[in-house]
Amino acid sequence: MKSNRLGINTICTHVGEVPDEQFKGAISPLYMSSSYAYENVAVKRYPRYFNTPNQEALCKKIAALEKSEAGLIFGSGMAAVSHTMLAFLQQGDHVVIQKTIYGGAYAFITEEFPKYGIEFDFTDGFSEADFLEKIKSNTKVLYVETPSNPLLLITDLSMISRIAKERDILTMIDNTFASPINQTPADFGIDIMIHSATKYMSGHSDICAGAVAASQKHIDVIWNLAKNIGGSLSDYTVWLLERSLKTMALRVKAQNKNAKKLAKWLDAHTLVDKVYYPGLKSHPDHEIAKRQMSGFTGMLSFELISSVDPELFMQSLALIKQSMSLAGIESTILSPVKTSHALLAPDERKRQGIADGLLRFSVGIEEKKDLIADLEQAFEKATKKQLQHI
Ligand SMILES: *Cc1c(COP(=O)(O)O)cnc(C)c1O
Repeated sequence: MKSNRLGINTICTHVGEVPDEQFKGAISPLYMSSSYAYENVAVKRYPRYFNTPNQEALCKKIAALEKSEAGLIFGSGMAAVSHTMLAFLQQGDHVVIQKTIYGGAYAFITEEFPKYGIEFDFTDGFSEADFLEKIKSNTKVLYVETPSNPLLLITDLSMISRIAKERDILTMIDNTFASPINQTPADFGIDIMIHSATKYMSGHSDICAGAVAASQKHIDVIWNLAKNIGGSLSDYTVWLLERSLKTMALRVKAQNKNAKKLAKWLDAHTLVDKVYYPGLKSHPDHEIAKRQMSGFTGMLSFELISSVDPELFMQSLALIKQSMSLAGIESTILSPVKTSHALLAPDERKRQGIADGLLRFSVGIEEKKDLIADLEQAFEKATKKQLQHI
């Protein structure tokens, strides 16, 4: 099936199906075999070679979703990040990394790269000048994440790919927050797309996985490292992820819609100081976001006014649960200062613009009116409890 001519829901539902030749079942059969008959030198199936029937099929769907030639799937998003970076970097190379990235990727780079003699610099901002300032003669990779966590800041993908191509530098994006439904960076010339499939790709908070999409040439390089490191994904999880991806476009579009409405509602609320959502006209990067995104995701952040205690507010929510992860069909909330960014020094948090009253809200598919009612009663409870304290 030529996937480049299919619509998004058809890609989600059908591309990369494993045909059930024996029983003609409607879905891909699950092949749990870790041992396969030897076919020939080219086809030696083995789970750690990432080429069992279910692995191979899912990689096709990932590739089609990211408008790329090939894909690879891993046991976690961090496995996807670490394999992709290490596959293209060696001792003496330099990588330029966007100022704010996922905490796990930050830890991986700052804790592991020095051991391998890989040099790195984080940019001071998101502009062309910020990236150019850090590029050196040995820079091999530009690494970005847009929208960023937790402030939903936007990096201009056309700009990144232009300055990289002019210098023969490889570009990598962590596309987790956008998902391929809202952003396909290959359209803007980005070389390698990385996902924590634990998030929107899974969508039900029940799978830990990672994915990469790129040209066949680049995937071959990553595969070569991956088979040596040996972090392939269990076929059962592969099969579950295929099922999840079938509804990804439906889920993500519903989440986009809810998040946009809630962002507007929060923006107008007297107890909310700021809302960070790329779909709002007031977002500083709204114009860039409009150019490179077809939807603005289900992720948003907001800052309570200083007189509302964020802890009291979160504890008062009933429907919206506190949770470390994100992107599930259920709405969740967290305080970056207390969780995802707790390990950053307070100075560094301030530098990144992460205030104590900031809350990151992963909007699910529940009815908008029920989410608003939950937020409203939490605002009331939190302010009432605070008054009792005075
Ligand atoms: C969660 C996440 C990761 C890491 O994924 P895991 O599946 O937890 O390893 C990487 N990048 C972003 C943006 C994430 O949200």
